[in-house]
Amino acid sequence: MASPTVSAPAPASAPAESLSPSEAVLTSVFESAARLNLDAEVIDLLRTPWREMRAQLPVRMDDRRLQIFEGYRVQHNGARGPYKGGVRFHPKADIDEVRALAMLMTYKCALMDLPFGGAKGGVMCDPTRMSETELNRLTRTYTQHIAMLLGVARDIPAPDLGTNAQTMAWMMDAFGQLNGHTPGVVTGKPVELGGSFGRDQATGRGVAVCMREYARLEGVDPRDIRIAVQGYGNVGSWTCRVASEMGFTVVGVSDVKGGIAQPEGIQVGALDRWVGVAGSVAGFEGAHPITNEQLLEIECDYLVPAALGEVITAANAERIHARAVVEAANHPVTPAADAILGRRKIAVLPDIAMNAGGVTVSYFEWTQNIQQFRWQLDRVLQELELRMVGAFGELMARSGRDGTRPRQAAFDIGVERVARAIKLRGFV
Ligand code: GLU
Repeated sequence: MASPTVSAPAPASAPAESLSPSEAVLTSVFESAARLNLDAEVIDLLRTPWREMRAQLPVRMDDRRLQIFEGYRVQHNGARGPYKGGVRFHPKADIDEVRALAMLMTYKCALMDLPFGGAKGGVMCDPTRMSETELNRLTRTYTQHIAMLLGVARDIPAPDLGTNAQTMAWMMDAFGQLNGHTPGVVTGKPVELGGSFGRDQATGRGVAVCMREYARLEGVDPRDIRIAVQGYGNVGSWTCRVASEMGFTVVGVSDVKGGIAQPEGIQVGALDRWVGVAGSVAGFEGAHPITNEQLLEIECDYLVPAALGEVITAANAERIHARAVVEAANHPVTPAADAILGRRKIAVLPDIAMNAGGVTVSYFEWTQNIQQFRWQLDRVLQELELRMVGAFGELMARSGRDGTRPRQAAFDIGVERVARAIKLRGFV
């Protein structure tokens, strides 16, 4: 049985490739606003973030040079609750990228029905070229600069690309020095400092759960589904681990240093041991070497971009060989590519649903911190499963009902909830 949405109509005209990341997100928001008949004042509120902060971050590097970084915190919309969203350390984390990611968080939290608004932070830097002590100093400087925006009931950062549990420990500590010990001010912390069990695997597990649900809608057994995953960081590696436990066959993976393909299936446990030693998937014994670009064009059933944004563009969308693209990364498909994939009847399962497992367990971590009560891993995974299956099912049902593609259905649900909260609060 084919899912009704796989053959949903493509948009009539293809958007230009020159849209900035935030303009690209807005195309989906405006489409939903038009379908939902939202009032113009609500649309105006959603068009730009509520608050954007840019900070100069001077850091003394190990060689005694002073390097000045630029950092941001963007709070897009807080109608549904405190601002929530990760902090990205990446050379391309400029203000528009962070703004786009903050907008995605607003609708992601609404789609998952979490009591949060949307935010994102970023520092333009290359963490792979910085020492631990430099990263510690940069994180503290950044936290001190944005501390007046943060709080358990105000804005709660989390990890994203280039940051991790250690970064959150430094952020919690820097915030605590100013305001007193406040574990609930960041999520994704180490378990020893009040982090939640299961937060590290949450995003990848959520991706795998949604893929299993999509396979069920298609009427195909996961054992007959080949997946290829771009990125073997936190999200990509956990997606591979959980998906292979569910029976999916991983036929290709890649990371910044290169990729590997094995049509008969990669043993994920052995690959993990190899990555532990070699620091990359590249060179894994028995697999063919491929490039990151080739990974995207590999013969597979579900293609899972799980690293950077804007990797599937008008330049390669014609050469995707999967029947579904699973957006584990944020914004990996440009609007122009999305239109091409739609025309080619390739389903695109949207980021705001597929990678929402991370912020969902962040929500569990926040509630555990507030209650000062720790949940066991089983409970975290069970609640995550329930929320992912529920939200994914809801968006696919909406997509089937309205004849819209899954991204549009996900935005329809998210935008509708945010607009309702705006009205109820009396903002407009
Ligand atoms: N950075 C993750 C995301 O993009 C998680 C955010 C969070 O946990 O607040 O969804």
